[in-house]
Amino acid sequence: MMTRRQGLRWLAAAGLAPALPALAQTAPTTAPAGGAPSAAGSGQTRLILLGTGGGPTPLPDRNQPASVLVVNDTPYIIDAGNGVARQLMLAGIGVQRVGRIFITHHHDDHNADLGTLMGLAWSNGRTEEVHAYGPPGTEGMIRAFVDYFRPSADLRRAFSGGADDPAALFMGHDIAGPGEVYKDDNIRVTCIENTHYPNGGVKDGVHYLSYAYRFETPDRAIVFSGDTAESDALVGLSRGVDVLVHEIVDPHRTAEQFRRKFAQQGRPAEAAEKLIEKVIAIHTTPEEAGRVAEAAGVGTLVLNHFVPGYDPAERTEDWTEGVSRHYRGRIVVGADLMEI
Ligand SMILES: [Zn+2]
Repeated sequence: MMTRRQGLRWLAAAGLAPALPALAQTAPTTAPAGGAPSAAGSGQTRLILLGTGGGPTPLPDRNQPASVLVVNDTPYIIDAGNGVARQLMLAGIGVQRVGRIFITHHHDDHNADLGTLMGLAWSNGRTEEVHAYGPPGTEGMIRAFVDYFRPSADLRRAFSGGADDPAALFMGHDIAGPGEVYKDDNIRVTCIENTHYPNGGVKDGVHYLSYAYRFETPDRAIVFSGDTAESDALVGLSRGVDVLVHEIVDPHRTAEQFRRKFAQQGRPAEAAEKLIEKVIAIHTTPEEAGRVAEAAGVGTLVLNHFVPGYDPAERTEDWTEGVSRHYRGRIVVGADLMEI
């Protein structure tokens, strides 16, 4: 059940708050659960985690990966896992405000709602362009989504909605390699290739790219690791930043869950062990995340993209103990709709 606070933020995001003056006064200044007071309109950069569960399995209490930076009231989306539009609205950010989206890599826990986010922005009244940036494949995905979205867009344009053709507004951009990705008056974005894929991302002559992004705003520098194994390039990208949002895997509990799942499905135990080894090798353990954060000298390490994403036996210390063995800074165990 949605909390009253979430409901108030949703009303504001949906543009419904003016009908309820008492609520309208409350909504914009209400801090998200566990977060700092809202800095909306103050010119300060807000970082809100929208979805913090890793992997493509829908989870009970963590949405699929997505985050938003709000700089001078402009939202910038980092990853667009399933459910990102709803999470944005619960964070008080109307989906029609989305104009810039950055995808770290093309696993579907990170891009499942990329097109849908654009479509919903349009259906909720957006008339300006929406640009998505990501590894090669992004441009083609957006072109394909324009086709996928056309029957709905045609209906709305014919009978009820806006006049603009989505084909002229939805833009995808392939990032060919490390370097500067994007720049405007609020923000500068750079990226490095991380180490999420085995064999340097090369298979059958194709180089698959997975990125970590650094966002520099007037008042903060924030890095998103994307999905990655421990990465020296990420240490370089994160040097001295205020916040590093880093993915995390608990190898022991992940292994336990895989073994249980394979046994229940009657699949061979050796297959489970092989998959466990592969999954852990492309993610970052708490000990490793602590080493990365310490080496980069980051102010705050925010743990994100939890694998496993749900475990009734989970304790906060399961995530922080290993990190704090190597990292002396502030550790935040991320949760959906947390503002940092
Ligand atoms: Zn992922």
